[in-house]
Amino acid sequence: MAKGDLIGHMDCPCCGSQADVNEDKNGRPLMFCRHGCKAQLFTRRPEQAEGMLSRIRRAVVQAVDDNKPEPAKGGFWENLTGVA
Ligand SMILES: [Zn+2]
Repeated sequence: MAKGDLIGHMDCPCCGSQADVNEDKNGRPLMFCRHGCKAQLFTRRPEQAEGMLSRIRRAVVQAVDDNKPEPAKGGFWENLTGVA
């Protein structure tokens, strides 16, 4: 999983638009309200990262449902637990 990848979406706490959540260069989630007010919400501490991750709608899960059969288990989820 490359840095900067889209992790999922969440509602922007400022304007309520659907905001993108990407992985920042430290491997933590970073919300960017790309289609709304352009707010950016950084997560500097593990509690913040875990809190945001528990609230987002995962992009990967939707992509799997839409157009992929069964992904190879391993890489992605192992990386996730490694981050947390
Ligand atoms: Zn916003």
